[in-house]
Amino acid sequence: MKFIEKPNEGYHLYNRFSADFTDDTVRLNNRDYPLGTVSRMVTNISADDMTELLLLGGKVKFCYEAIHFYGYSRERYFAQQESILEMLECMKKHEVFGCFDFEESKKLIDSVYSSDALDRYDEILEMEPPFSDEQKYRIEEIKKLFDYAKVLGAVYAYIAIDTANFATAVQNYTKILMEKTSRKKSELAKTAFELFNDELFMYYLYQSNPAENTMRGFSVNSVQTVAPVIDNNDDYKIFRRIYFSRMMDFYVMDLFEALSHGHYLWQCKICGRYFLMTSAHKQLYCDDVNPEYNVPCKYIAKHPEITKKKMESQKKTATPNYLLWKRRDNFIRKRKSRGKYSESEFAAAKNYINDCYEKSQLDFEYAKNKYEDDMEIKVIDREVRKATDV
Ligand SMILES: [Zn+2]
Repeated sequence: MKFIEKPNEGYHLYNRFSADFTDDTVRLNNRDYPLGTVSRMVTNISADDMTELLLLGGKVKFCYEAIHFYGYSRERYFAQQESILEMLECMKKHEVFGCFDFEESKKLIDSVYSSDALDRYDEILEMEPPFSDEQKYRIEEIKKLFDYAKVLGAVYAYIAIDTANFATAVQNYTKILMEKTSRKKSELAKTAFELFNDELFMYYLYQSNPAENTMRGFSVNSVQTVAPVIDNNDDYKIFRRIYFSRMMDFYVMDLFEALSHGHYLWQCKICGRYFLMTSAHKQLYCDDVNPEYNVPCKYIAKHPEITKKKMESQKKTATPNYLLWKRRDNFIRKRKSRGKYSESEFAAAKNYINDCYEKSQLDFEYAKNKYEDDMEIKVIDREVRKATDV
């Protein structure tokens, strides 16, 4: 899926891009994303990155408006191409735009703004009437490409603005939702109804938009059809295919479809990033690895000693994994001193817990998912029996 479809792509409309929706996922560029994923990615763009994107978007929009008001010129088209390519480079840094096909999008830009294409536009300007049938046909052909270039400019001119406005809207929505006690579908819908029908909020969103004359609000303008497609596993499926002319329309569709399926965003109280929830289960912290502490926020929440110790430059021996090892080490020593372990049983137990601890230091997935289970006393007992059973 590209940021804009080709004009000659079957039934695709040339000024729109499409996304396929089914159950609780949306398919973009042959990958399925749970509904709400796109909203999460947009909402997590940092303020600095958003500013960079908006500045580049402003440049594209300026070029687009110059063409819109003053018409075609080689220089204006070149400038437009350059500004779009610059913005595409910046977009590559962001997870959300990774859902689209950059190579195909770039190819399209090259085809309508290349010097070859510009030569063709110049060719029409130089033709003098009366035109032969062949010339008329040629003019029609070039005009299509020319119009396409204009629309392409418009699409890119609004991507940054739409992305920034949508992020603001979802951050506000999430803030309100987090003050509510319920996370049921009806509550998600009620919160959406109240916020997006609030005139003051919509005015605020409108004011925060640097391109106010072109803002169509928080809207969904889309065209819907149904399309049979072949799945990656060669399965045939029928999807709801929706066409969007602006990124905002697609974002809003993702958010509202997500809410209608009980998916919503929540802001992690530890790292401040937004995470996607697909159930009403009351999770407060994200599963992402916290860049500061190198363990998931959910894990940090359960082990407050991590943040405390880490802030005072934590010693390796103070980690929860070490502390658990230490408890088990004391435990098996006691067993030995009380005569409950023979020499060889004690050695087997010691080897086993040392191995587990060592593995937890090297393998983060193991530490997160299995280490605690493996260090259960009944598991240690089982391993000791296994090792000493001759
Ligand atoms: Zn977090």
